[in-house]
Amino acid sequence: MTNLSTIPIKTIKGIGDETANSLHAMGIYSVEDLLMHFPYRYEDYRLRDISEVKHEEKITVEGKVHGEPSLMYYGKKKSRLTFRVFVGRFLVKAVCFNRPFFKNKLNINDTITLTGKWDQHRQTITVTDIQFGPSMKENEVEPVYSVKGNITVKQMRRFIHNALIEYGDDLQSTLPESLLTKYKLPSKRESVQALHNPINQEMLKHSRRYFVYEEFLLFQLKIQALRKYKREQSKGLIHQFNHNDLQRFLKTLPFPLTGAQERVLKEIIHDLTSPFRMNRLLQGDVGSGKTVVAAISLYAAILSGYQGALMVPTEILAEQHAKSLTTLFSKTNVKVELLTSSVKGKKRREILEKLSNGEIDILVGTHALIQEEVSFQKLGLVITDEQHRFGVEQRRVLREKGESPDVLFMTATPIPRTLAITAFGEMDVSIIDEMPAGRKVIETYWAKHQMIDRVLGFVEKELQKGKQAYVICPLIEESEKLDVQNAIDVHDMLHHYFRGKWNIGLMHGRLNSEDKEKVMDAFTRNEVQLLVSTTVVEVGVNVPNATIMIIYDAERFGLSQLHQLRGRVGRGSEQSYCVLLADPKSEAGKERMKIMTETNDGFVLSEKDLELRGPGDFFGKKQSGVPEFKVADMVHDYRALEVARQDAHELLYSKAFWEEEHYKELRNMIEKSGVMNGDKLD
Ligand code: ADP
Ligand code: MG
Repeated sequence: MTNLSTIPIKTIKGIGDETANSLHAMGIYSVEDLLMHFPYRYEDYRLRDISEVKHEEKITVEGKVHGEPSLMYYGKKKSRLTFRVFVGRFLVKAVCFNRPFFKNKLNINDTITLTGKWDQHRQTITVTDIQFGPSMKENEVEPVYSVKGNITVKQMRRFIHNALIEYGDDLQSTLPESLLTKYKLPSKRESVQALHNPINQEMLKHSRRYFVYEEFLLFQLKIQALRKYKREQSKGLIHQFNHNDLQRFLKTLPFPLTGAQERVLKEIIHDLTSPFRMNRLLQGDVGSGKTVVAAISLYAAILSGYQGALMVPTEILAEQHAKSLTTLFSKTNVKVELLTSSVKGKKRREILEKLSNGEIDILVGTHALIQEEVSFQKLGLVITDEQHRFGVEQRRVLREKGESPDVLFMTATPIPRTLAITAFGEMDVSIIDEMPAGRKVIETYWAKHQMIDRVLGFVEKELQKGKQAYVICPLIEESEKLDVQNAIDVHDMLHHYFRGKWNIGLMHGRLNSEDKEKVMDAFTRNEVQLLVSTTVVEVGVNVPNATIMIIYDAERFGLSQLHQLRGRVGRGSEQSYCVLLADPKSEAGKERMKIMTETNDGFVLSEKDLELRGPGDFFGKKQSGVPEFKVADMVHDYRALEVARQDAHELLYSKAFWEEEHYKELRNMIEKSGVMNGDKLD
């Protein structure tokens, strides 16, 4: 069998040294690379019925020349050739620029094939290509390739054409016959042929399906092989404890757990008590009750004689978590401490001391937790909240503070399932998909900025009932340039508007942590009724008496972020409201605002967000770990991804996969990637 990945492209007819270098610059080295360089679109020369063609669409039509062409020169070299053509029952005009020599070739009643742009109003084709004679069936659809340097698309077509002739038959399917049959997929050879020279849409679709599945399956095999390897290699702690003690703790909680909380807890406890190191992502919408799950998990670790750490991205959040944990553990003798960069001097030394001699059971904090001076006596469980805000490196350092503590990552950003199983493919995922009972759905409205008076009237009514409100502004100061609302301005405006009736706080990232804390404390104690803030309140803040949120320039935020922000209200038993102030210009923008008013389900919104913004943008910036596929598209082909994920799992844990000949190619590909030795995917 010929291995096309080892045959250099120079063996292809027409490719010399210089061309080879240009191709290398595009990452094309071997014949296989060349054959896998697929068109990014197709030029469609198939004949169309002119009555179905839209204005400005590109078309190819066959017709008969009608009447003499007329040629007009203007300027030195510029010319314009006009003639009439009968296309079916329509008489249309054709215009052809700067090709005067066509005139003599156009004879009345000749059949010609024209390609060009259709102007519906003038019933005119601006011709880019004329074939003298009827259309040639072979060239109906031409592939268009990305090219670089001095290589032209035409050349690329020829190289690939030649490569297909010489080596096309040597293409071996990576997928075994059994999978091809199962999913009725064409062979790799057929698929490659068809992608370069599609005979029809149907064939193109099937060929795409082959590669979508192959790419996803290989990706899933690699990522799951890596996870399997890590599981088998990583000797984690075995947390042993008396489950009755844990049950007793559960009874002290102010509420029964939801079904979803119980389920994810079971998954976590299973990991804790297993000899593998836990590497789990816990997803749950804002307010779904992740904190209590974290608390119970930490309690299990403590029962088995270990300490726990809870790491969060902001100081405010650290304080809130420390408070909630202290409350949840008030009927136990668990000792919770808070460590942030503002804990200094004697107090800090004391905490560090107690941590290293085991007097502190749970340490809550920001990245201050991963400084070198912080050492635990016996760290058994690390939980991070809002994990995507931490760098991989920070997570590693914290993990290494224990021998090999179990790790749980929590996030309130509902990550679409498709992304979760790709970007976080090497983690186990638990999902809380149920809200505690009795929660009122937040009513969301969309208003134009000019309706601000009415909106503020509404806010005032809530304030008069003794409620509190958030007003969210996108950015501070720089915003002038970017034409976004300035938080300070909004603060002043509201102050003016309400004429001192209410206390209005101002919160933004430029405040030092002491001032932030002061503002937050005042808001928590209802000394401040209206909090104007940038997005720093996004995560975790919990003031149940706040029932209304106004978001300025809402169209500037992603759906998931809006949902996160909105989650700051609706935390108590009262009806809460969210008003989106937005004047979106585009249809997509309007669509986004509408979706926000229609659903409270973070997962639905995140799927929409992914659909509207694409995977690269999903996390706000390019997220490493989101793989790029040649043919497959994570958003549109998510069903195939799900299928591939399950298949990969079945294969990896089956004996046949590791032994039988027809899986050899797949095995080779996994082995080559190095994941079976624990190498990271790149
Ligand atoms: P998040 O998942 O956003 O971190 P929290 O853990 O802060 O959510 O929980 C939100 C609120 O719901 C808290 O006030 C918490 O006490 C409450 N809560 C959590 N679990 C339950 C439950 N099973 N029943 C009733 N209330 C609950
Ligand atoms: Mg939380």
